[in-house]
Amino acid sequence: MSTFKAPKGTYDLLPPDSARYLAVREAIAAPLRGSGYGYIETPGFESVELFARGVGESTDIVTKEMYAFETKGGDRLALRPEGTASVLRAALEANLHKAGNLPVKLWYSGSYYRYERPQKGRYRHFSQVGAEAIGAEDPALDAELIILADQAYRSLGLRNFRILLNSLGDKECRPVYRAALQDFLRGLDLDEDTLRRAEINPLRVLDDKRESVQKQLTGAPLLRDHLCDACKAYHEEVRELVTAAGVVFEDDPRLVRGLDYYTRTTFEFVHDGLGSQSAVGGGGRYDGLSEMIGGPALPSVGWALGVDRTVLALEAEGVELGLPAATSVFAVPLGDEARRVLFAKVTELRKNGVAADFAYGGKGLKAAMKAANRSGARYALILGERDIEEGVIQLKDLESGEQTAVGVNEVVAELESRLG
Ligand code: AMP
Repeated sequence: MSTFKAPKGTYDLLPPDSARYLAVREAIAAPLRGSGYGYIETPGFESVELFARGVGESTDIVTKEMYAFETKGGDRLALRPEGTASVLRAALEANLHKAGNLPVKLWYSGSYYRYERPQKGRYRHFSQVGAEAIGAEDPALDAELIILADQAYRSLGLRNFRILLNSLGDKECRPVYRAALQDFLRGLDLDEDTLRRAEINPLRVLDDKRESVQKQLTGAPLLRDHLCDACKAYHEEVRELVTAAGVVFEDDPRLVRGLDYYTRTTFEFVHDGLGSQSAVGGGGRYDGLSEMIGGPALPSVGWALGVDRTVLALEAEGVELGLPAATSVFAVPLGDEARRVLFAKVTELRKNGVAADFAYGGKGLKAAMKAANRSGARYALILGERDIEEGVIQLKDLESGEQTAVGVNEVVAELESRLG
């Protein structure tokens, strides 16, 4: 062990478990790739100001959780705490929205950083796969994203997740509701911090997890009862399209989420086997964000699904992903001449797309066969001095134990046909 450890709130992805993370990322990306979303990658850090304006000055993410720093050149940067603001920034900077093909549909996958109190399912470095559809106001687009996330989770074999759905209204009806909620909150017995929050961002108070606060919120006005006609009709259409796709959701009139930029459709995916950190993903519509960061009006919708928590959810449900073995063929050379011959065979197999590995380090037969078994390979190729004289390689089926001698020049074709 070295003197160094992974920083607090972080962990390393190591084989064999890391294969599950790759599979989860792939499973979330697959439905997006098949639905017109193009891959985007942005820097791991951005100007602090982008997140302050985009995510919101009064949010926990910006006030408490951002890894912000000043560079030697005097720039104020922050490790990205979320993906949407960066993706929109990049799309605007490259004028993707002017190419005449709206919505611009993008997906991403990467690391995000929040200085949070670490616990199971909550880390300071975590990983998300996300999707953004920029520049169109269309309930079918909101529905598409909800359906694609549902499809991703189901393709992984997850069953015990729920979709919570709400509408946060728009710039017409939200201010009216906000004022009504503020009136209500001012009459409650709240601590000073919470009262201050009620003045800056009253909707966030609905999200307060403390029971002393939740108890008092029973009679709080609901946005549902304040939605303007346009928002009501929009939300009803999203609900109908999602329902018609056979995707089940729950209306949650209290769902607000921790980022300021959301308008209208808001949703969260929760998994009931995860304890307090139950949100495996979330998203919604953010019609005002582009203007908040200096762009034109571009109504947009997106989500981000947490890879770490999705892996935990798979564990909680006992889902095995049925990952293919990393290695199909393992080569065991006995002697120097055998090393040369088998190393060439391994290289040839790899070129032909067969996953193959080799007993490195001059191991004896026993240790090399142990390595072959541990690799998960279906077949071992064993080559000794007598085999070389006879021009054959021993091909051993590690599942049945059956061993046959195959001509040196036939072995690659034989393996390819056996592995299908
Ligand atoms: P948010 O941007 O907060 O809506 O997060 C979207 C998803 O990312 C959540 O539903 C989680 O699955 C995941 N996530 C957010 N923060 C963390 C964290 N600190 N640790 C692990 N996963 C996280």
